[in-house]
Amino acid sequence: MTSAEPLANPELQDVPSAATDAEPRVELPLPPSRRVGERIDWARIWPFLVLQASCLLVFVVGWSPVAVITCVGLYLVRMFGITAFYHRYFSHRTFRVGRGMQFVGALLGAAATQRGPLWWAAHHRQHHRHSDTPQDAHSPIAHGFWWAHIGWIACRRNYATDLDQVPDLARFPELRWLDRNDLVVPLALLAGLMLFGWGLETWAPSLGTDALQMGVWGFSVSTTLLFHATASINSLAHLIGKRVWPTKDKSRNSMALALLTLGEGWHNNHHWCPGTARQGFRWWEIDLSYCALVALSWVGLVHDLRPIPARARDEARRIRG
Ligand SMILES: [Zn+2]
Ligand SMILES: [Zn+2]
Repeated sequence: MTSAEPLANPELQDVPSAATDAEPRVELPLPPSRRVGERIDWARIWPFLVLQASCLLVFVVGWSPVAVITCVGLYLVRMFGITAFYHRYFSHRTFRVGRGMQFVGALLGAAATQRGPLWWAAHHRQHHRHSDTPQDAHSPIAHGFWWAHIGWIACRRNYATDLDQVPDLARFPELRWLDRNDLVVPLALLAGLMLFGWGLETWAPSLGTDALQMGVWGFSVSTTLLFHATASINSLAHLIGKRVWPTKDKSRNSMALALLTLGEGWHNNHHWCPGTARQGFRWWEIDLSYCALVALSWVGLVHDLRPIPARARDEARRIRG
């Protein structure tokens, strides 16, 4: 297997400087371009709106235990794809994998229907470079809650993938293909779910499910919940919770968001130290994605999980006194 050894990206792997809130900070006014010239791209966003509206079909198709279990299971697996791979691996390179596993991780993330790995990582790297300034595409501080939660993905400006942000990922043709064809995996998942539901209806009718019910619960409901939970890290995780570290941005730590997102709610920890695979720093800061990554490292599927660097630990001791 060809190694997917990342190119060095010191800016993102390094511990961020322990800047304090007292440090001079240029407070820029809201850019006039925030909405002027930023039109909602209806041609591209309508499938996303239809997806969310299709959740109402639960009142038509009803429910069954197997459909709800599938919904929850796919939420958890795909959330792991987003947190562990799209975020901690593709955006921050906080651990290493072989090239095959890298593609599996990309497929898992793509199944979440949050576009391709290069698009996701490119925007996320921009978020860290410009956190909570007007240049941050989804800052609730600079642009408001709804813009940070959903508005930014609906405008043309943020549709393209800026490959200059992700040269270390763009050198893999399979990732570029997945990024260009980001609907292939979600559509395959939807088709597979409906086929599965049809199979259960045919061969296990006592389970009380069918193709449409499995499509609605397994895809529509699960994907919509997954989207809003992920988006809450862009919006709520910069608004609610506790600030432990004096980062330049307004990121916060929230147990509730951490439980919803398998560990991403420790967002202030993450902005403090984005180069580590771990986001829950203390034993009680539950970070299920990190636990799963540790388990995968035991069986050799992932390697070299980057720990919290000594520099950050020293700084933590200084801050905590
Ligand atoms: Zn953030
Ligand atoms: Zn990040």
